[in-house]
Amino acid sequence: MSRVLKHEFDAVIVGSGGSGLYAALEASRVPGNRTAVVSKLLPIRSHTGAAQGGIGAALGNVEEDKPEWHAFDTVKGGDYLVDQQSAAILAEDAVQAVYDLENRGLPFSRTEDGRIDQRRFGGHTRNFGEAPVKRSCYAADRTGHMILQTLYQQCIKNDVSFFDEFHLVDVLLDGCKCTGIAALELATGAIHVFSAKAVLVATGGFGRMYRTTSNAYANTGDGPAVLARRGVPLEDMEFFQFHPTGIRGMGILITEGVRGEGGILRNGKGERFMEHYAPTLLDLAPRDMIARAIMTEIHSGRGVLGEPARDDYVYLDATHLGRDVLEKKLPDITDFCRTYLSLDPAEKPIPVQPTAHYAMGGIPTDLDGRVIADEKGNAYEGLYAVGECACVSVHGANRLGTNSLVDLIVYGRRAGRHMAEFVRQADPGVMPADASEVAKDILNRMSRKRRDGDAEKIRASMKAVMMDAVGIYRGGDKMSEAVQQLKSLRQQAAQIGVGDESRVYNTDLLELLELQNLLDLAFVTAASAENRKESRGAHAREDFPNRDDEKYLKHTLAWLDDESVRFAAKSVDLSIWEPKPREY
Ligand SMILES: Cc1cc2nc3c(=O)[nH]c(=O)nc-3n(C[C@H](O)[C@H](O)[C@H](O)COP(=O)(O)OP(=O)(O)OC[C@H]3O[C@@H](n4cnc5c(N)ncnc54)[C@H](O)[C@@H]3O)c2cc1C
Repeated sequence: MSRVLKHEFDAVIVGSGGSGLYAALEASRVPGNRTAVVSKLLPIRSHTGAAQGGIGAALGNVEEDKPEWHAFDTVKGGDYLVDQQSAAILAEDAVQAVYDLENRGLPFSRTEDGRIDQRRFGGHTRNFGEAPVKRSCYAADRTGHMILQTLYQQCIKNDVSFFDEFHLVDVLLDGCKCTGIAALELATGAIHVFSAKAVLVATGGFGRMYRTTSNAYANTGDGPAVLARRGVPLEDMEFFQFHPTGIRGMGILITEGVRGEGGILRNGKGERFMEHYAPTLLDLAPRDMIARAIMTEIHSGRGVLGEPARDDYVYLDATHLGRDVLEKKLPDITDFCRTYLSLDPAEKPIPVQPTAHYAMGGIPTDLDGRVIADEKGNAYEGLYAVGECACVSVHGANRLGTNSLVDLIVYGRRAGRHMAEFVRQADPGVMPADASEVAKDILNRMSRKRRDGDAEKIRASMKAVMMDAVGIYRGGDKMSEAVQQLKSLRQQAAQIGVGDESRVYNTDLLELLELQNLLDLAFVTAASAENRKESRGAHAREDFPNRDDEKYLKHTLAWLDDESVRFAAKSVDLSIWEPKPREY
């Protein structure tokens, strides 16, 4: 039997990306609050560190701008599935949030007169759609890296306790009350149980369910999957964003900042094809539209021909920007092109294809990050979620670039503050009784005999199914088939063992746990996509090509019931703007 070690904290935060660290910073500001951050990675290796392009805020440093315009762009960009108060708060609070980051030491790129510089990004406009506006605040193309460094050092200053390389395996719930978590310590194989008055889940995205993705290996959706198995619903899982410009064949991201600085997409004939799809915003239209435009060009034979057995692609042309702009404002991108493509972007266009990038859906929350239990908005007690794993319904059916980093900071701060206040008043936590059950289950897994290659085969099948049936374009028949295939893959995965009982960094065990989490989320994603019989934002159905506000202007709540997925509808907050057709 493995050791079970016990800890007691007031607030436990799972995940040390931008959202988790900001929440930890707020939670730890209340004197006497014992705050812990539990993370499977070292904090500065979290995926937030890969964010390149920037964080959107209507500072108006370079051109006139207003939070109201930012909120409107967010709502329209999300194809009106955005909860509008949520967007209003995002845009309003973004301004102060960016100055807070600056005051805490974040080295933003500067204008000539020393203010935070800003650049263009897709879907961000002035005066309700007139023309692109410079709204993205950035630190070269290392914005996320700088955010993580800044927040991590502030958390250390506040005496937050860090449990690095601890993998969440269970969130402990007593009815609707959260009592703590259980985690596997990767270095020793020991199970740790943390009792807590409040738990905040901030485990990031789950792009690894797709074959081609910009996401890090660790983005396996552990938080939402663990909660779904505990009976917590997931919201709007059918909306998964494909970023238009991943490096061809690899999926590694080339930031939208390249187009923000003036980069142009060209098809195989060298034409600027976005002129036909979004005449006003061109290459700075929202991502869902550009990803579809690229696929249409390719399917119509106007892509650049891939070599045999490789897919066709298009070009991102940055050659006219000049070496100076590339080296100063996009140094990492320039470096990626040299490293992965042996190509100098100042001389040659970059071959790109859409890549699975961002989960709009996730754990449903209210405006203070409290996890919602049902379509009426009833909340769990002491359970919070924030960041990419959460869904405060601010991105709707399609997220605008730079709005995830804002979401982390604005809603990380709100959730952290609410949690700090909750913890101050709550009764002391009780050590949960059923915690070691989880440990037993995991250890059984380790000793069960391994059949070679099983996990790898299942993983490859899942990625292929998701890419082909639940990717940029989707069809009803293929999705029904995908749901059945994923059901069977889940059953197969439940049977395999690890066959390696070593306790120290048992990566086979870790990968199996991650695979099961991905499979659960892929299953809910595919079923939710099949269930929504319209096209909206990133969810583009060939059999239902139009948006259908009458039937589908509502959020999906989905419960994972073992072998099936159960649905309910949650209303959308339309309190500010009336839904209109989306033109750019
Ligand atoms: C390449 C790339 C570039 C991007 N560029 C931008 C950009 O310019 N602007 C923008 O707005 N957005 C951008 N995004 C999106 C944005 O970066 C992410 O959505 C955001 O950083 C997610 O932050 P997070 O705090 O939710 O999670 P993450 O930063 O992904 O962190 C997740 C944390 O959870 C922990 N964790 C996960 N599972 C477990 C577990 N089982 N147990 C314990 N801990 C766990 C991890 O250790 C990690 O610390 C980009 C994304 C990518 C992939």
